[in-house]
Amino acid sequence: MMDDAEQKMRFLFAIRSSGVTDARVLAAMERIDRGVFVKGIFADRAYEDMPLPIACGQTISQPSVVGQMTQALNVGPRDKVLEVGTGSGYQAAVLSHLARRVYTVERHRRLVAAARGIFDTLGLTNITALSADGSFGLPEQAPFDRIIVTAAAEDPPGPLLAQLRIGGIMVVPVGQSDAVQSLIRVTRLETGFDYEELRPVRFVPLIEGMGQD
Ligand code: SAM
Repeated sequence: MMDDAEQKMRFLFAIRSSGVTDARVLAAMERIDRGVFVKGIFADRAYEDMPLPIACGQTISQPSVVGQMTQALNVGPRDKVLEVGTGSGYQAAVLSHLARRVYTVERHRRLVAAARGIFDTLGLTNITALSADGSFGLPEQAPFDRIIVTAAAEDPPGPLLAQLRIGGIMVVPVGQSDAVQSLIRVTRLETGFDYEELRPVRFVPLIEGMGQD
């Protein structure tokens, strides 16, 4: 049986081995304990490099993918970031150590309530978690320096592209929900958008409308 320190060492090793080299991202992921975000029977698997089930039939993403997406987002300390798909709150918590302000939106109210509780406990006061359909972004707080979407859309959603500041970056999985999707990095230029394909991924779908719970 591995002790806690060994599990956490392996956890960070898996993230580094997946190509995450940005020291700020690695430090943020070292500070945020994924174990706090995984409940019940899956709690003892929190330090494995795999997605795990959370409430409302959703998932907490694979840690190495969280690291790669965060690295691709290239967040600066003055940035205002929007995350679509709060889920457990883990990705938002990692971002909170890199950005000035993080807004995170989730269609399941129950997940938002649970994530808010964790942010309060951890003293992460620069995160605002809201129940909303994130396909429309968060117009009242736009524009954003960075946008990260943690559910797969068939195309980068138009309202999110519109809410990206010029020079801003969005990272979004794009493709059908039942297939392998592509992780795309979109950069907003003065004259349009630059699209870069990063790697294949598998995410739950971005669903329009609020969830039942
Ligand atoms: N970032 C999360 C974390 O760190 O645990 C993992 C997110 S999970 C892979 C995707 C989340 O996106 C789910 O919680 C799902 O309910 C949410 N979601 C799907 N469609 C959405 C939408 N239109 N607006 C907001 N959230 C949405």
